Amino acid sequence: MDRKTILELPKIELHSHLDGSLSIGAVRTLLGRTVEPEELMVAEDCKSLAEYLEKFNVPLACLQTTEGLKRGGYDFMEQISSEGLKYAEVRFAPQFSTSGGLSLRQVIESVLEGLERGKKEFGTDYQVIVCAMRHQSEEENAAMLKTAREYLGFGVCAADLAGDEAAYPMTEFLSLFEKVKRLEMPFTLHAGECGSVENIIASVACGAKRIGHGIAMRGHNEAKRLCKENRIGVEMCPISNLQTKAVLDGSMYPIREFLDEGLLVTLNTDNRTVSNTSVTKEIEHVQANYGVTDEEIIQMQKNAVEVSFAPEEQKERMRGWFPG
Ligand SMILES: [Zn+2]
Repeated sequence: MDRKTILELPKIELHSHLDGSLSIGAVRTLLGRTVEPEELMVAEDCKSLAEYLEKFNVPLACLQTTEGLKRGGYDFMEQISSEGLKYAEVRFAPQFSTSGGLSLRQVIESVLEGLERGKKEFGTDYQVIVCAMRHQSEEENAAMLKTAREYLGFGVCAADLAGDEAAYPMTEFLSLFEKVKRLEMPFTLHAGECGSVENIIASVACGAKRIGHGIAMRGHNEAKRLCKENRIGVEMCPISNLQTKAVLDGSMYPIREFLDEGLLVTLNTDNRTVSNTSVTKEIEHVQANYGVTDEEIIQMQKNAVEVSFAPEEQKERMRGWFPG
């Protein structure tokens, strides 16, 4: 696909973090100073996940006021509509924006207000995923999720678990996500980004409808079969995964394998600014490096519709974007 065709294709993204996607322009406005790209973006030769995570400090500092959060939501919509996304699920951890004294409700409502303003202006649709964090206590995460549950169906669509997967395996969060199930809140879970296929199997067993990254399933027939049989969405973020060294080198990236196996693969940015990427760039990257065909690009958009957390009537509208 050439760039013009990609831009015209109705695109969907399901895995994008609000903080890591805050644009340089928005950060400059909110901080009221010049900001160098290196403050927000990883270098081409990023060496580790730790180096990658350092880039979140500056954008997070911008997301501590209602003004910053509203701007963040609007800024996200502006960016995704400029490359022809028609629907996105954007995620963030509300508890990371309370250090300036805001309540979780104020945080969530401010982001939703900014997203809604962007939706009205740009005509792109959205839903929000709230992230529990692996390093936080079950009580803190449960309290956040209980508050966020009040917004389910009113802009919030699901929960997630993010943070240091290697240090905090999925087995530590089974009781938290039992609670989420009782709240009747669907969820996706970051799993298999750090090489642990066990985290993927535990996540699916625990009731996750989607898996963030999932690359540790590479070569694991049992895990792939489990995901296929349960129609689990696989949120792949190729450029981010290369930068964080989730795979040692690009030739080991399993998107070709997962597509060939018929998994419900979707293509995502993870962090638009930190990874200096877009869905357009991700499409170009996988076509150039993994022989992903035009048909497979469209199939991944259709997969995204099927595994999205949008209400059924919204999914039905989205299906109309991809006739045949
Ligand atoms: Zn992520």
